[in-house]
Amino acid sequence: MPDELLERLRRFQTDAFPQQRSLFRHLVDDGQHPLTLFIGCSDSRLVPYLLTGAGPGELFLVRNVGAFVPPYDPEFDGPQAPMAPPPEGGARLGTVRRLAGFHGTAAAIEYAVLNLQVRRIIVCGHSHCGAIRALFKPQREDAPHISRWLELARPAMTSTEMTDEALRQAEMRSITLQVARLLTFPMVRERVERGDLCLHGWYYVIEEGRVLGLDIATGEFSPLS
Ligand SMILES: [Zn+2]
Repeated sequence: MPDELLERLRRFQTDAFPQQRSLFRHLVDDGQHPLTLFIGCSDSRLVPYLLTGAGPGELFLVRNVGAFVPPYDPEFDGPQAPMAPPPEGGARLGTVRRLAGFHGTAAAIEYAVLNLQVRRIIVCGHSHCGAIRALFKPQREDAPHISRWLELARPAMTSTEMTDEALRQAEMRSITLQVARLLTFPMVRERVERGDLCLHGWYYVIEEGRVLGLDIATGEFSPLS
């Protein structure tokens, strides 16, 4: 069976890359200076580059299930703790606590704000989000990481009955919640208060190709496009 992805990869090397060789050279020599941290759901139908027209070097991109933002975690044991072997007996709690310290999304937020000094953070959720839908269903015992991760959006639920309207409400309210949680990061809050950083919530309606933007003051969404 031909591997289409591999074929497209080869075409990138032969066709697309030569046209942007000098841009990539510049981005290597000068380093990356993206102005935007884009936190988007991993859903394959959300294509940030297509949506924004952004090219290489423009978006610092983090994607995870649901476009969720974990809380800033000052209880984290520190960088050495995850490397330590779990203690004998009673290790369960200790292990869980240490595993909870591997915060990929939180690390990306810190890096983007402190090192790259981005000026804008966009949290982009979307319609028909499987992560939000999963909140309305019983959790799977064989997927402990998903179960724990989904809790980051549970406060966005206003109903336990899964209707189209309840899903849409939860999808939007989750974006509001994640944007608010960005402010638990001290480096984010400081810059927002100084006016050096703007926070945005986007709701992408897949079937319409439209983005609704969050008005942080009112919690309402209105069309941006
Ligand atoms: Zn999603």
